[in-house]
Parts: sequence; structure tokens; C-alpha cells
Amino acid sequence: MPQRAATPEVRLEYMTSEAVESGAYDKAILPVGATEFHGPHLPFGTDSIGAETIAEAIARELGNTLVLPPITYGVSHHHLAWSWTVSVRPDTLTYMIRDIGESLIANDIRKLMILTAHDGNRAPAEGAARLLHQEHGIAVALMDGWQGRARRALSGTQWDIDEDHGGQSELSIVLYGAPETARPELATPEPRQNMDVPVEVVGEFAGTVPKGFSGDATAASAEEGEAICRAAVDLVVPFLRDLERNGWKRGGFMSKIYE
Ligand SMILES: [Zn+2]
Repeated sequence: MPQRAATPEVRLEYMTSEAVESGAYDKAILPVGATEFHGPHLPFGTDSIGAETIAEAIARELGNTLVLPPITYGVSHHHLAWSWTVSVRPDTLTYMIRDIGESLIANDIRKLMILTAHDGNRAPAEGAARLLHQEHGIAVALMDGWQGRARRALSGTQWDIDEDHGGQSELSIVLYGAPETARPELATPEPRQNMDVPVEVVGEFAGTVPKGFSGDATAASAEEGEAICRAAVDLVVPFLRDLERNGWKRGGFMSKIYE
């Protein structure tokens, strides 16, 4: 069973001052997760585990990149119908991300990628990103969610992943990133959720899917989790290298109009 490499060398919370100072870090990734019910087979920190697993893989491949301690609470009011979901307000999350970003300036880090793995975090993260850029000139890249991107990248391969909450792909990433927290024997095959609604509707998740989780988690595997992680790295790292060459500024390399 593949297991992610232990990479304390990129995780600030596991590093000593000497290790950080000798690392020549000039950019950081902030994983943002959530604490919410994902079914009996997955831990409450599923979204945080997904965000930090992918952040670590990207940082390792990119180099000179520090992974900040994850924010493990997100905007999960729409999941409060299930016990032990713990949520913060959108404004709270925006302020937290903004405060964290401002703290980096004193350490000469002005390039930040925010990697969120939960739908409620998207807007607060974007708000914080825009404030950090407008008020301090910090360059901020935002990766919101990994499931849709990984699903498109892996289509046509042996990995046909879902975008479900508590489904196949989330169990796969946990089996890869933190297998000791998963209970795959409790997974049940549930229908996949249609993700292609034309507008986003803000409100309770209860009633959207019968049990509060969906997708066939019985089909999950650590191998699939590794493939998801690899797909995210292959997609994001070349783009971040182009961004780096452009001084972490938007530019023609994105539109490709100038080539
Ligand atoms: Zn989730």
C-alpha cells in the first residue's frame, strides 16, 4: 500500500529554527480544511488531511516552499446538522488567513498559495487573498478544491474519481495521507452526487444527499489517493514554475495569447 513520504522538512510546525533558516524558503502554502462529519468511515479532519497531503506533495516538488500549519476549522455551518461538525464564520476565516499572511511578511515571504479543500472556504479565502494583495502587495495564488481538477486530470485513466462529500476520492486521499484515521470497512456504496448544477445554492447540506455523505467509498484505495496527489502535483507545479518565472505576477503565460 503506498504511503506518502514523511516530509517534516517542509512542515513548519515540525521544524526547528535552524531547519527553517537553512531551508531558503521564499514561498509558503497554507492548507485550509474543515472539521465536519464525513460518514462513519472517515475522520472529521478529512478535508484538512486532503489539503495538507496535497500541499506537502506540491511543496516537495516545487522546492523552497514551506507548508504552514493547516487551518483545521472551516466554514461548515451547512453541515451543522451532523454532530461534531465545528464551524467558524466566513469573516473569522478571512481574518485568520489575512493575519497569517501578514505574519509572513516579517519573514520575507511574500508569495503564498492558499489550498482549500472545502466548499465553504472558497469565498473567505478569496477575500483574504485579495486583501493581502491589495494592502500588502503579497502575491497570492488560490487553489480551491482538488476533487474537480483531479477528476478531470484523471479521466480516461484507470482512476474514475468522484467529487462527493465523504465518497470514494476523499477516502482514497485519506487512505494515502493518514490511513490510521480511516475505517474503510465501514464504507457503504452510495450514489454519486450530481455536481453540475448551473448555480450555487447556499444553505443546509441536509437533504441534499440522504446520509450526509455520498459516492462509493467502498471503491477507494491508497493507490487511487496517490494518483490523485500526483495528478494535483502534475497540474499545479508546472503552472507555479511559470508563475515563478513571471515574478509571481499574472501574465501572458496564463492566457497564452502572446506565444
Ligand atoms: Zn470533505
